[in-house]
Amino acid sequence: MVDEYIGASDIGGTWVRVALSNINLEEGEILSKKERTKKENIYSISKQVCMLLNDLLNEHSLEASQLIGIGLASAGPINIREGIVFNNANLGFREIPLKKPIIEEFPDIPFYLINDCNAAVLGIHFFEANKKEKDNLVYITMSTGIGGGAICNGLLLLGKDGNAAEIGHAKVVPNSKHQCNCEAYGCWEAYSSGTAVKKRTLSFLGEGELNGDILLELVDNNKSEITAKEVFEAARLEDELSQKVVSDCVFYSKVGVGLINNFYDCDTIFFGGAMMNDEDQIIPPLREQFRKDAIKFTINHPPELKLTEYRDEIGLRGALTLVKYKLENSEVVKSYNF
Ligand SMILES: [Zn+2]
Repeated sequence: MVDEYIGASDIGGTWVRVALSNINLEEGEILSKKERTKKENIYSISKQVCMLLNDLLNEHSLEASQLIGIGLASAGPINIREGIVFNNANLGFREIPLKKPIIEEFPDIPFYLINDCNAAVLGIHFFEANKKEKDNLVYITMSTGIGGGAICNGLLLLGKDGNAAEIGHAKVVPNSKHQCNCEAYGCWEAYSSGTAVKKRTLSFLGEGELNGDILLELVDNNKSEITAKEVFEAARLEDELSQKVVSDCVFYSKVGVGLINNFYDCDTIFFGGAMMNDEDQIIPPLREQFRKDAIKFTINHPPELKLTEYRDEIGLRGALTLVKYKLENSEVVKSYNF
């Protein structure tokens, strides 16, 4: 049994996850647990992370003094230097302090905050990418929103606050009437995220021009039951309205992937996030487009498109990887010097 552990947490709008592992992060040795995100006040999340970490330590008869580092992945935007999350649409408050309350509970332990998608690309780098893919790698999450992380020429891209590669807010439609959660118009996220799929479906149903009977039957005519999941299911059953929404979601994802490849010239893009439960309707048409006729969407050589096998655990694995790489002085996280 090793006696030193890395602690990690991944904070999302729905779940807070924590994990412990030794520095080798070997398969089967990651201890983890999760709980629904608490949002009573600005300190709820930091308290929850500390409590869950302490619970996990207790359950495995470990001491806080055995922790050699704590990595915290959070939905962004974040400010690594100040250790906060700001302007996040799903966590409930304008500014949420994370670093200060957590290092008060776990003093003298190296602490690293990172945006969840930047964490995820590190997780892919360590756990999944092959040798050829490692140096030029992008991760895209398609979920409530759309986010990304990028490793270019072997270096994690972070930016001034830690929010590089906010690809969901790339504009895919000029002069669009569709407003994104970020308040701008025409973002990729406003067309292809889970939130957008739901919102656009309700708006088409309101207009009444496309037939959505199959979808309405699926939800017993209760429109408030409609989420992206039902829309993808109805599209599979050839519902006209749902097929239009899904086909737009895929088309604008082609635009998004094309832009990403123009910006980062990546070898491989890994996809994750809740929408990958319906990846059969998203990934194959993207693959076909970039294999057969990439030039319509990107000028650079097209990337391979893959799915992360770790699904909603990849952010947590990324937070563990960040600590491992920092403690080992890995070149990949050379840019992480806040
Ligand atoms: Zn936006």
